[in-house]
Amino acid sequence: MSVKDKVVVITGASSGIGEATARQLAKDGAKLLLIARHEEVLKQIQSDFADGQIMTAAVDVTDFDGLKDAIKQANDQFGRIDVLFNNAGIMPLSPLSAGKRDDWQRTVNVNIMGVLNGIDAVLPYMHQQGSGHILATSSTAGHKVFPTFAVYSGTKFAVRAIMDGLRQEEAANHIKSTVITPGTVTTNLYKTIPGKEAQAAEASLHDNPNRSLRADDVALQVVRAIDTPANVSISEVNIRPIEQEA
Ligand code: NDP
Repeated sequence: MSVKDKVVVITGASSGIGEATARQLAKDGAKLLLIARHEEVLKQIQSDFADGQIMTAAVDVTDFDGLKDAIKQANDQFGRIDVLFNNAGIMPLSPLSAGKRDDWQRTVNVNIMGVLNGIDAVLPYMHQQGSGHILATSSTAGHKVFPTFAVYSGTKFAVRAIMDGLRQEEAANHIKSTVITPGTVTTNLYKTIPGKEAQAAEASLHDNPNRSLRADDVALQVVRAIDTPANVSISEVNIRPIEQEA
């Protein structure tokens, strides 16, 4: 099966990497369930493609019941769940000494529990089908830590660990696991960093295409990882802008 007619669930589909992937997959004929907290952009994407091709759900990935319900509706409508792209994430960077406990908790809840909730919600369908593919967005910050990145990096290291555990546990069930580890990408993510100075520094980075990827660059690799023969599983996609060293 190629990407056409595959049923793909994408979290964090209202912006950046998730939106770019949704649009690319929709162009290629996939059937989609798009998830984010704010539904306006999801509805816009839906209206740009054929009637009935795209479902949307305003769900917070930390709300397991909401996620499970939306995925059940997609399975009822489309008849199967082939792929989950666990992509929603936040990045409220700060030094540990700032003691931003609420931000830490939110980052852990969205970036780690959100991914686990997605896995838990789709695995029963994939087991029943005897096939499936789960992808998750980690980061180059899931390989290397920088000052102010401790908590965010911790969640992205965790995503890699979870996805590698999933890969090993589900290999015999023919459920693929792919972790995407992008370097810097120009999206709205940097706008979630507290503090004008940090945002300005990030914004200057994002102005330079050699130092910051476009969301479409990442989306293309996500689609390639999905569009593999049944016996081929791409475990990790590591993608950086050309001048990024770390
Ligand atoms: P954006 O901020 O552009 O998009 C983030 C998406 O996640 C939005 O659709 C947002 O929608 C959604 N989201 C955030 N919190 C929740 C939640 N609680 N429940 C459901 N959806 C949520 O950022 P990116 O596209 O850059 O980020 C996508 C992923 O890529 C993240 O996991 C990020 O950590 C990772 N990444 C990004 C890099 C970059 O440089 N941009 C580099 C490496 C990894 P809404 O607000 O409507 O809920």
